Amino acid sequence: MLLSGIRRLFKPERAMAPTAFYTHPACLEHDMGDGHPECPERLQAIEQMLRASGLGAHLARREAPSAQTSDLGLAHEAGYVANLSDFMAQVAASGKTRAVDPDTWVGPGSLEAALRAAGAAVAATDAVIDGEAANAFCAVRPPGHHATRRQAMGFCFFNNVAIAARHALDVRGLQRVAVVDFDVHHGNGTEDILAGDDRVLMVSFFQHPLYPYSGTENPAPNMVNVPIPPRTRGMEIRDVIETQWIPALERFKPQMVFVSAGFDAHRDDGLAQLGLVEADYEWITMRVMDIARRFADGRLVSCLEGGYNLSALARSVEAHLRVLSNQPLPLQSA
Ligand SMILES: [Zn+2]
Repeated sequence: MLLSGIRRLFKPERAMAPTAFYTHPACLEHDMGDGHPECPERLQAIEQMLRASGLGAHLARREAPSAQTSDLGLAHEAGYVANLSDFMAQVAASGKTRAVDPDTWVGPGSLEAALRAAGAAVAATDAVIDGEAANAFCAVRPPGHHATRRQAMGFCFFNNVAIAARHALDVRGLQRVAVVDFDVHHGNGTEDILAGDDRVLMVSFFQHPLYPYSGTENPAPNMVNVPIPPRTRGMEIRDVIETQWIPALERFKPQMVFVSAGFDAHRDDGLAQLGLVEADYEWITMRVMDIARRFADGRLVSCLEGGYNLSALARSVEAHLRVLSNQPLPLQSA
């Protein structure tokens, strides 16, 4: 009786499990051409930060497996998966880079990277549900949140977060999951896939107007979309989160939380004009972690989306990971 009470209080398995860090060397081999902002150096900047800060020693590093066709089919139409996979395989065989749209290019390493990125999200979901990890961050590329059921766009091919969310619901049997998208761009692909699925609540803010210019008209009832004008700063965005995201998440009571973690709302990012700084990403992560703790036993999987200023990206991911792994910055001595 006493022992079971103590067990319940401390939840030892999950409390002692580490934050998992999923990545794969193949994610560095996806190359959309010189000067493209969604570049392999993004992941290298994160790795460099993990070494320099010492944070890497506190994370459980995991090699991302490849997603299976059945995983991709959880979020995408079968014909799309087949056609895109064929196209990417042809590109891999030819050794030449080809465009899907003016922003989105397939190179010889893209298929393997895309499969590892989606596979990371699925494996992280399993590890967190099984209690092997307290929570998880997937340092992967290509990102996913612009990929719709049947279209690659906006640097995205397979929708890593939507696939993982559907995996939690359809394969692992969860009944309610939340998707939190703090990338500066509207996650139109995730919305396309999950709109109207009342097992999902998606909350997001995004700069508007900005690519992909969607999200403001007739979002589905399970979408909380907050368009934000350019040059808005962190304190105002925190207010939006507190007044619009948090009450919706509290009503929904998710059993697991997925995060589309884009860091391109940072004030130093060149692709948008919002004003977040590292402390804002720390705060957002704490608020989302609080929801996960209260309703989902801490279950949270975060996947990298955007973030194109390499230094700001690394610093913001550090802030995000320090909260996830409960490794606050050491106090500076005077
Ligand atoms: Zn973005």
